[in-house]
Amino acid sequence: MDELPETRLVREDRRQVGGETKLGGRPTFLCGEFTEECCSEPMVLLGQFDELDFPEAELPDRMIAYVLICRKCQVITCAASAKG
Ligand SMILES: [Zn+2]
Repeated sequence: MDELPETRLVREDRRQVGGETKLGGRPTFLCGEFTEECCSEPMVLLGQFDELDFPEAELPDRMIAYVLICRKCQVITCAASAKG
């Protein structure tokens, strides 16, 4: 299934976003790739959120959290990948 258009984001406080936070596009993997499937197809990236960009969320070091969607049945799920 086609990926969504990639959009890079700017924090509302204008602090620099130096991590991999974005909407759409292809997931950025830190350590090994993975695929979540629904309807026998890979799910599409809705957005990913890099710990580096949101220290106040207190995610583990160097972690990216992903929200994935199946556009056929409108199901979302989340996954995470950490380095090391
Ligand atoms: Zn589905």
